[in-house]
Amino acid sequence: MAGASAQHKKIARRGLMFVLSSPSGAGKTTLSRMLLKADRRITLSISVTTRPKRPGEVDGRDYHFIDTLRFDDLVKNNELLEWAEVFGHRYGTPRRPVIEALQAGRDVLFDIDWQGTQQLRERARDDLVSVFILPPTVRELERRLKSRAQDSKAVIHSRMAKAAGEMSHWPEYDYVIVNRDRAQAFAEIRAILAAERLKRERQIGLSSFVRALQAKL
Ligand code: 5GP
Repeated sequence: MAGASAQHKKIARRGLMFVLSSPSGAGKTTLSRMLLKADRRITLSISVTTRPKRPGEVDGRDYHFIDTLRFDDLVKNNELLEWAEVFGHRYGTPRRPVIEALQAGRDVLFDIDWQGTQQLRERARDDLVSVFILPPTVRELERRLKSRAQDSKAVIHSRMAKAAGEMSHWPEYDYVIVNRDRAQAFAEIRAILAAERLKRERQIGLSSFVRALQAKL
């Protein structure tokens, strides 16, 4: 049996692009962190942004914080897989780390908004799995935004005002999770990822694996 499971691990698999989107305050960042900690086969795509760093954020871990001139260069040189303006700042996904991870059969996690998800869908439909996270109530959304305590009152207010517009994009996603309970939402995210990894077309090494099995019969 040990031999069979070791052989199974060798089945080549194409990595998938796993997008989590939500209005700010629905719990997406916490769930992303939990996933990265629990699952070693998925890597976070670290975006570039022109937004100022918040207290506690680390350059290169949370984002690559860059200025608008550098951002313009990245766009011009086609170095971003997608990019968008969100809350008055620009955000984008560096192309190369994503391509390299996928080619190595690793999955990539994206914490990006609906505009970025649309662009990824246009460019890589077959590799994309998208999940939209909704807050259970407006009161809970507000509570989470306030408890973050990193943003000013004006920023919190503007994020609340934009939440309705952001939420309207839920029908564009493959899966929708209502984050009533963190442990439950996390279990649901892991179930989606597990099932998507098993999709036949993502297991590109299956035919040679089955041929090897048949050869021994
Ligand atoms: P925050 O400023 O709170 O970190 O992020 C604001 C919004 O920008 C979030 O909805 C987040 O998902 C989105 N975002 C972060 N990075 C990217 C990116 O690279 N591309 C796009 N399209 N959205 C991003």
